[in-house]
Order: sequence, then structure tokens, then C-alpha cells
Amino acid sequence: MYNAWENVLAEIEQKISPSNFSTWFQDTSLLSTEDGHIIIGVKNSFYIKQLRSKFLDIITEALKNSSITVKDVDFEVKSTTKPKVRPREISAIIDTPTFVKPTKKTTSSNNGLNSKYTLENFIVGSNNDVAVAAAKSIIDAPGTRYNPFFLYGGPGLGKTHLIQAIGNELLKRNPDFKILYTPISHFYSDFVDAIRNGKGREFNRKFEKLDCLIIDDFQFISGKEKSRDEFFNIFNDLYQLNKQIIITSDRLPSQIKDIEERLVTRLTWAGAFDIQLPKFEDKCAILKSKAELMGADIEQEAIEYIAENVNTNIRDLEGELSSILLMSEVRGLTPWELIQNGAATINKSSKIRPATSKQIVDKVAKFYELTPKELCSKTRVSHIKTARQIAMFLLSKELSMSTTKIANEVGVKDHTTVMHGIKKIENDLKLNFALRDQIDAIKEKIYG
Ligand code: ADP
Ligand code: MG
Repeated sequence: MYNAWENVLAEIEQKISPSNFSTWFQDTSLLSTEDGHIIIGVKNSFYIKQLRSKFLDIITEALKNSSITVKDVDFEVKSTTKPKVRPREISAIIDTPTFVKPTKKTTSSNNGLNSKYTLENFIVGSNNDVAVAAAKSIIDAPGTRYNPFFLYGGPGLGKTHLIQAIGNELLKRNPDFKILYTPISHFYSDFVDAIRNGKGREFNRKFEKLDCLIIDDFQFISGKEKSRDEFFNIFNDLYQLNKQIIITSDRLPSQIKDIEERLVTRLTWAGAFDIQLPKFEDKCAILKSKAELMGADIEQEAIEYIAENVNTNIRDLEGELSSILLMSEVRGLTPWELIQNGAATINKSSKIRPATSKQIVDKVAKFYELTPKELCSKTRVSHIKTARQIAMFLLSKELSMSTTKIANEVGVKDHTTVMHGIKKIENDLKLNFALRDQIDAIKEKIYG
């Protein structure tokens, strides 16, 4: 029985978000399958309501796919002694990519689309309205104005959701459409497999026939020359036939390592659309809608508290909401009560121990292969100057140091130079994703 349930869970895991999977399916078990009456064991009654309203179809389908006869499905409160999913602290139920297993073999449809991503459940806000307008125009007239559709933005901001929704909607309107969604990494591994097995031709043919090709996480294209050439051959062929091409990336093509200039231009021929961090009002709207979808009650104050305190991305927003709702049920208090009595505080950042200004200067210098003395010298050599500005930026953001103090710390003349340096980095960060990665990496070194 336990093995059978493991299969079912593996199926379910492919179909729902990691945060939903870890929140709702942790500690579930299969208690009985007698005569097709399925009984699933859960930890407490809150789960029953949620599982039934949100996941019944998915569970039923997964049971059937695991060759279990299903007449009806019921739930009973009883925790398993052998949890399938490693139990995690409630406060740690946050969507992380590490929960995603390789999905290739078990995806049930082979177009890569997941029906849970729809336009209806994608909240439009000031952070994504332009991208959504373009998406709608593609749905109305694929292969025309926004081709290729290049969508970029940081992790967890809804890129996969939006492009999957485009694919699903296109398919709904044009049932004969041939659509393929694939992360670029799967494109690679499939290509390499095909070549190894002498099936290069078939691999090509699969793409030739498409009406719409959707490529996710294109930033991982760096390196791997042969697959890259193959990708661009396919890209050109489809483009010439006016077939819709959709590509996401966490950065602009010009910031992806090793790709040629002519490809950079081609990818953004029809413009580059971005999804930004949601503003406060956007975050509230998303949280409200997610809570509704989960059938949960949550006070406006609690929504605002979460919106104010999660400043990373929408994935984390969802994670915090799930964990507060879960805790609310377990403790028998409303979300706002929990927040007010301090039981549900949000980890604002990973600043476990405060850094010192020396640490910051040292780590920035080391990262750029300079000595702290070089970094704090008067030289205007461009790369050293940039490193110095990054140090100023971090001293200001991480330690809230005054610009005068920062000037002393990094050996510059006065506080206006510091203000200018910080502003420069802030501006660069808006578009330069490589810089953002570097600063993240430095922060990791500082706090890690
Ligand atoms: P990305 O691909 O940019 O890393 P995802 O598309 O995986 O991000 O989004 C992360 C999570 O946030 C998903 O569960 C997604 O459904 C949700 N999400 C993102 N943007 C929105 C939105 N505008 N409305 C509703 N849910 C969203
Ligand atoms: Mg994604």
C-alpha cells in the first residue's frame, strides 16, 4: 500500500506547485483501497477540506494512473508513521525549486503544458500588465506581432505561469494546434539523447511541425555550443513560417553569456517584455486571490502584513500565505491573531548575524580579486571603481551606514561621491541581471 501511495504522490507532485505539494501532501497516507473505496489518511481535519476542494480531481487521476480502481475517494484524520515527504517546519514551507524532481518520464501529456496555469488565475497588476497585454494579443493572433515573445524577470515572478497560460489558452481555442513547452535544459538533454541514439532527424521533425514553441529559462543556454546551434536552426525555421515562439529568461539576451550578437537581436526583434516585483497593492491582490482559491478566510490586516513583509517574489508570497493558513488551522487562531501574538513572524531576510563594515569591504574586494587596499584606493580604473561602488551600495543597504561614514570607510573624498556611487549601482541593477547575480553572490559570502 505504501509503495502504491508513493507512486500516486510522485504523479501528484508533477502536477502541482512544490509549495502546494509540501503543504498539503506531507504526511498523507493511503489507508484503504478496498472495493475501489479509497481512504486517504491526513494529519487533521483542515487538510480534508482543502484536499477535497482543491485536489480531488488530481488525486483521483493520479490513483487511476497508478492502476488503482477508484469508485470514490474519502479522507480520514490519521497521520502516517512513515511520512513520504520529509516533514519540514511549518515556517519553512516555502516553495523551493529543490523539491522539483526531474519530470520527464512521468508527465502525462507530452506537450509539457500544465493545466493549472491559466490566465484566469493570473493576477494582472502594474508589475506585469504590459506583458499580459502582449500575451493576450498572441492568443488572438499567434505568430504575428509579438513574435518572438521574449519575457524576462527575476525568479518567482510568474514567467512560467504566464507562458504556460498562453499555451493552454492557445490550445483551448485551437485544439489542433501543436504546441510544445520545454525548459531549455530539457531541450538540451533531449537533443543529446537523440544524437546519441542516431535520432537527430526525428528530433528535428518534432519541432518542424509545431505551431508554437515555448522555451522556459533560456538563460541556461550558455555553454553547450552544438545544442545552441540546433536551437537557433529550429528557431529560424519556425520564425520563417510565422510560427509563434515564446521565450523566457531571468535576464536580457545581451546579459546571457556566450551568445552571439545576431542572436541577441533576433530574440528581441519584437521587443523584450518584463515582469517586475509586484508593488504593495499587487501583492495584496495576489494574496487575496490565492486565499480565495484555497477556500481560506484571511483578514485584510493579515494580507497587508504579509504583503509588506515579503519583498522577494510571488513564490515566497504564496509560501508565506500557505504556512500562515496552515498554522492558523493547527493552532485554532485566525491569521491576524497569529501575527499579532508573534507566532507567525516572517523571516525578512537571511541576515542571520549582522555583518561588519570590514567584512563587507573584504568580501567585495575578494570577489573582484582585489585587495581591500586596492578597493579603497583613489584609482579610477573602471573595474576597481565599480567594485568600490558596490561596496558603498552594500554598506548603505546592509548596514544603513551614513554616506559620510561610508566615504571614510572606502577612502573617497566626500559623501556626494558615495551618493553618486550608490545611485549608479541602484540604476544598473534595474537592467543588469549579471550584476544582480554578483551582488547576491557577495551577500551570500558575507552572511554564509
Ligand atoms: P518564474 O517562472 O518567474 O520563476 P512562476 O511562474 O513559477 O515564476 O511563479 C511562481 C509562483 O507564483 C507560481 O505558483 C505562480 O502561479 C505564482 N504567480 C506568479 N505571478 C502570479 C500572478 N500574477 N498571479 C497569480 N499567481 C502568480
Ligand atoms: Mg519559471
